[in-house]
Amino acid sequence: MVTILTRELGVIRAFVRQGKNIKSPNSPATGLLCYSELTLYKSKKDYYTVENSKLLSMFSDLKAELTKLSLAEYFCEVAAAVCPTEQEAEEHLRLILNALYLLSKGEMPELLIKSAVEMRLISISGYMPDLLMCPKCGVYEAEEMYFLLSGQLFCKECFEKSPLPEGIKISKSVALALRHIVFSEDKKLFSFSLSQSSLEILNEITENYLSKKVERNFATLQFYKTVSS
Ligand SMILES: [Zn+2]
Repeated sequence: MVTILTRELGVIRAFVRQGKNIKSPNSPATGLLCYSELTLYKSKKDYYTVENSKLLSMFSDLKAELTKLSLAEYFCEVAAAVCPTEQEAEEHLRLILNALYLLSKGEMPELLIKSAVEMRLISISGYMPDLLMCPKCGVYEAEEMYFLLSGQLFCKECFEKSPLPEGIKISKSVALALRHIVFSEDKKLFSFSLSQSSLEILNEITENYLSKKVERNFATLQFYKTVSS
């Protein structure tokens, strides 16, 4: 049984006959991180079976490095948890494919790719944070703002005046990066840069926001943190 993120049907589970047998014709295209063309058969009991398959890419560069591989596995676990099931998911699939491609190229900081995937994926899955302005006074940007894990962005003055739950203090550049991830066009999503310290704050926000919205932790994330430290 494999979990597949598809363009037309979102996340589905499907049987692969003799999938673990390397001599099986469908084995090469149904492994971890394979991007493939699949012909699926749906039984009367609503079970999917992979009938035919053709491997398009297997991101082999990712498999050569444990930190990259573990981050890629985390992207897959998150996608399986938040992407729609039994309905079209083209935007989700494109996001994951672009992220895997950029991760395998190795020219961009891993934390940048990770933050962009986390916040964009959760936003297009129905949990977009409200980043337009401070909800109390309408201020758009300030040197210092506070992100609340409920998904709101407060200015410093309103945050300090109001009895609010814990917020993460962020600079103007982190606020801009958050807005970029949520609102930019697909093809510009990963086109931003931040200092390492700002990337770490951005990462704390996107990781915790995602995990709060889906109300769970991810074993693959813990593993990524272990191997990347
Ligand atoms: Zn305010």
